[in-house]
Amino acid sequence: MNISKRDQNHIWHPLTQHQTAAPPIGIVKAKEALLWDEDGRQYIDGIASWYTAMYGHCNDHIIAAVSEQMRQLDLVVFTGFTHEPAVQLSEKLMAILPSQQQKIFFNDNGSTAVEAGIKMALQYHFNKGDKRNTLIAFEDGFHGDTFGAMSASGLSVYNGPFEDFFLKVDRIPTPQKHNLQAVLTKLKTIIDENDCAGFVYEPLVQGAAGMKFHDANGLEEVLQLCKENDVVCIADEVMTGFGKTGKHFASLYLETQPDIVCLSKALTAGMVPMSITSCTQKVFDAFLDNDIAKGFFHAHTYSANPIGCAAAIAGIDLLLSDEIQNDISRIQSAHQSFLKKIKNHPKVANARTIGVILAIDLATEMERYGDLRNQLFNHFMESGVCLRPLGNTVYVLPPYVITNEQLNQIYQAVETSFNLV
Ligand SMILES: *Cc1c(COP(=O)(O)O)cnc(C)c1O
Repeated sequence: MNISKRDQNHIWHPLTQHQTAAPPIGIVKAKEALLWDEDGRQYIDGIASWYTAMYGHCNDHIIAAVSEQMRQLDLVVFTGFTHEPAVQLSEKLMAILPSQQQKIFFNDNGSTAVEAGIKMALQYHFNKGDKRNTLIAFEDGFHGDTFGAMSASGLSVYNGPFEDFFLKVDRIPTPQKHNLQAVLTKLKTIIDENDCAGFVYEPLVQGAAGMKFHDANGLEEVLQLCKENDVVCIADEVMTGFGKTGKHFASLYLETQPDIVCLSKALTAGMVPMSITSCTQKVFDAFLDNDIAKGFFHAHTYSANPIGCAAAIAGIDLLLSDEIQNDISRIQSAHQSFLKKIKNHPKVANARTIGVILAIDLATEMERYGDLRNQLFNHFMESGVCLRPLGNTVYVLPPYVITNEQLNQIYQAVETSFNLV
């Protein structure tokens, strides 16, 4: 029996209604920008497996670093012990993270990175004798599926059963050119009427919402207002981190820098799960005390897993290489040319690009997991291109190492998909 059939016996998939879902596609191999299924069909991974495998799947440099680390040290408890890969990674990250980031805390996925960030913000105030109980977040944000992260997420259509158990979160719309004053007024009211501990946001691009963009100058003002009120700014760069927007981090487009940054996804280049919550010295210092309980009593067993650290170190080396930086510019200009070509197409309601992210809203109403979405997905897979539309938004976020030919194949599949709407 093939993998896809055997899968149905015991496997429960994420984000899946098993009553109606098509059987999953069994994937047996990946290299660079390509995936192969168990029937030998080949697909271009147009979304880098949820924006992780940015340096290409099964990257030789990362494999070498990880295999060497596996033979040297697999895991040691990270409370009371430390190791070279963790220390080296902290040094490498400091060189590229937004200014003022100073301390690195390790978690194991994007949701738990945000979860730790939220707990840091709450305890930061608590330790100072100021019990603040409200978080601020954007409408339509996505921050993960654990309770704190889920509470901060505005995309909660599927969170019905849990809403009664959420943290207290007040929302503001994302700042656009036309609504900035209204956003700031609402933010000010929220801050005045509540005890706001932190503001959780995806800087510049909201990934799961459908690669929605907002205005950098507007975000700048939102952050300033938060900072003036000691509201801890938590930048969720789980999607935007490591070059996706053209800069190493989306926060680097802004002058006002976050107090806390959450990283995962491309951090380990798709090789192993790991995440990081970094913070400023100011946040860290609020946890220093002779009272042990003022420390941050939060841990994951696999904290700073050396193999994850080795993958991350190798990934950062690649990110900083001329080759990858050139690839990022190459994809950026290819996206811009394609955008010019299609943006006035009658089936295109809106098209936008930043860095290697390209998103096109098709001129139709569509449910997030509706029939047309599935037709689009099938069309792409039949064209040998793995793209996963979010509602009526088709987006491309390819591995940096994708070839021009592969990129053109993706563009062609996107153009022919307009015929379906
Ligand atoms: C994917 C994502 C998360 C959640 O990460 P997981 O590793 O899936 O838990 C959080 N925030 C953003 C912006 C993401 O894109």
